[in-house]
Amino acid sequence: MADDNKKTKEPSCPYKKKCGGCDYQGMAYEEQLKRKRGYVHKLLPECRLMPIVGMDDPLHYRHKVQAAFDCVRGGKIVAGTYAKNSHDVVPIDRCMIENEEANAIIRDIRDMLRSFKIKTYDEDTGYGLLRHVQVRVGYRSGQIMVVLVLSSPILPSKNNFVKVLRQKHPDISTVIINVNDEHTSMVLGERNITVYGKGYIEDELCGLKFRISPGSFYQVNPRQTELLYKKAIEYAGLTGKERVIDAYCGTGTIGLIAAGGAREVIGVESNRAAVRDAISNAKLNGIKNIRFYSDDAGEFMTSLAQAGEKADVVFLDPPRTGSSEAFLASLARLNPDRAVYVSCDPESLARDAKYLTKHGYTLKECTPFDCFPYTKHIENVALLCKK
Ligand code: SAH
Repeated sequence: MADDNKKTKEPSCPYKKKCGGCDYQGMAYEEQLKRKRGYVHKLLPECRLMPIVGMDDPLHYRHKVQAAFDCVRGGKIVAGTYAKNSHDVVPIDRCMIENEEANAIIRDIRDMLRSFKIKTYDEDTGYGLLRHVQVRVGYRSGQIMVVLVLSSPILPSKNNFVKVLRQKHPDISTVIINVNDEHTSMVLGERNITVYGKGYIEDELCGLKFRISPGSFYQVNPRQTELLYKKAIEYAGLTGKERVIDAYCGTGTIGLIAAGGAREVIGVESNRAAVRDAISNAKLNGIKNIRFYSDDAGEFMTSLAQAGEKADVVFLDPPRTGSSEAFLASLARLNPDRAVYVSCDPESLARDAKYLTKHGYTLKECTPFDCFPYTKHIENVALLCKK
């Protein structure tokens, strides 16, 4: 079992007082796992709750890393994370839960800014150019995407900037300028300009290849994600005859992995960039029995239900807020034998599972996955079957 052999010696984080990103900083890993499972058990008391799947090595698991920049007293440039409820940047050189290469890239970008005369953006005054840097690292492919989030589309000496950065980090396969000129707490803006490489990276999970663009959702902890997707597919109990819906499908990951065991798969997702990725991912893997729709999942399910359509299995993997009532009501009308609910918030999972248990389903089993060690967050895969 993946949860047999945990590290017991706790690393200590020098930023813990100011950063606030890790709720369970300093807590033994075994204890973190116990608390997380206990929390899920409290919310789903009736359900068969399996052991939590923890990590053998719970450090440096985040393959997507973001940093904010600031120029502090004496003109020193710092990179790190915002302190809670402020625009003050807590300088962070190395984070114990983030990918180390990504951290090194961010440090090197920070140290290059002065010589390239790139000013950091001030969230309060709106003055300056560089707002954030996002780095995504492919787990199996090793490909690295660097997104420079700027307040304007123009980066001075951009080709030279990329050249110097790639000399230090040859694994960087694409560099993208993302333009965010809005007064917003969102990191990324709408517009992407590729300045080096293809504008996306590819990665492999569960034997398939996936293209990931800057705006697309992709799980940040690929090692655990693979285990989680495998469990989701196992819960679906596919025999090759099923019509499957993959709702909130992102880049199509779950649906594409399921497609080999099903008759047909329909994916639905509201983020257009993610749908474009999903369509290319189907091509990339030569999978033909899948179609993707760019729509609100609730509205899409409602129109399927109104058209009298049926489904055998529904995967749903909504954002933290959970699913809408329109979605769940239509799911019940589509009448699948199984619904496999992948959730990043046990509270909305409990609420939505309660709704479904009142509308013809039983919550059979749930497996928690620790995808976010040292934070309080937890993923769950739950199986609901028709009564
Ligand atoms: N299943 C995917 C993505 C899960 S994250 C994976 O495993 O990678 C949740 C996804 O839901 C995101 O891609 C987000 O863009 C999408 N989303 C959020 N609200 C939505 C809505 N109302 N309708 C459809 N998709 C939505």
